[in-house]
Amino acid sequence: MIETGDFAFENRLVTAQELEEDTGTERGLRPLSLTEYIGQTKVKENLAIYMEAAKRREGALDHVLLYGPPGLGKTTLSAIIAHEMGVNLRITTGPAIERPGDLAAILTNLSPGDVLFIDEIHRLNRAVEEILYPALEDHAIDIVVGKGPSARSLRVDLPEFTLVGATTRAGQLSAPLRDRFGIVQRLELYTPAQLSDIIRRSAQILEIPCTADGAMELARRSRGTPRIANRLLRRVRDFADVIGNGEITQEIAKIALDRLEIDDLGLDSNDRRMLDMIIKGYSGGPVGLETLASALGEEAVTLEDVCEPFLMQLGFLSRTPRGRCATALAYQHLGYPVTQEISSAQLTLDTE
Ligand code: ADP
Repeated sequence: MIETGDFAFENRLVTAQELEEDTGTERGLRPLSLTEYIGQTKVKENLAIYMEAAKRREGALDHVLLYGPPGLGKTTLSAIIAHEMGVNLRITTGPAIERPGDLAAILTNLSPGDVLFIDEIHRLNRAVEEILYPALEDHAIDIVVGKGPSARSLRVDLPEFTLVGATTRAGQLSAPLRDRFGIVQRLELYTPAQLSDIIRRSAQILEIPCTADGAMELARRSRGTPRIANRLLRRVRDFADVIGNGEITQEIAKIALDRLEIDDLGLDSNDRRMLDMIIKGYSGGPVGLETLASALGEEAVTLEDVCEPFLMQLGFLSRTPRGRCATALAYQHLGYPVTQEISSAQLTLDTE
């Protein structure tokens, strides 16, 4: 792992962001149908109904907004939608569409029914968003031709298409954009049992022998995130090849993950450093997110998107109106004594 700083989120092994090393294998591991897509039952059930209805109407599926932490399968779902609807998928990201002309070029090249996937849609700039509204509602865009007094607006009709927008932060989407999505689905962190299924499926595709215990050990330490689970599988395979007979057993998984400094709950040194800072630097909290971020030399957004969802799922971190607090469970996990004072402070905060 290349460490870029003390708090190296970008390249850390358990980051949910896509790393360069993931790109090649991720494509091969992506499920192509809803039945192959593990977990997220409610989302799947809803999408199956909406897709069936659209097919019966012989129309395009309504626009879909998927939100939730990175690495949970938003891009994968958009590919499944396109595959099941039998249409093309066009993938881009909010920051990549810099000018209205860029979006116009993409939209005018779509075929009827196509799925346009825009990742990080909350990062679209205003001018681009303005073009998107009529495209989503009326299947048309207004292009300005010429300059100065002779400039005129030309309406170009578009084929009916489906926009699938993905975001880690639905709250940052402008209200008019959010309102234009007919289907809004939130993806949840996965349970260890679901992640274990995902790992076993990937192990089969990559032809890595892996026992049920071994898969479960990896699953428990994957922060609820399939992308991390698949990455750990690949890393631990190297250990299995070198220190074992190639098979990922629970024992090998434990040795490897300990060496990689991922503890038995999936926390790495950065998570522990964040909790340590709250506990030692701010007496357990509450501490404001910005203050915490600058104390750690990290961006608040990164802490919020990457670190917090999992720490909150574990019950190690609570968000209160006054800031972030480490819970008694976090004290215990890091080996700090849980005093009466901490327990009762927590009770007061919980009831706020
Ligand atoms: P996101 O777009 O939310 O960041 P991706 O769709 O790129 O996440 O998913 C990351 C990887 O995790 C994919 O390569 C895919 O193999 C795997 N994955 C995600 N969700 C699932 C799932 N439900 N079942 C099986 N594999 C999954």
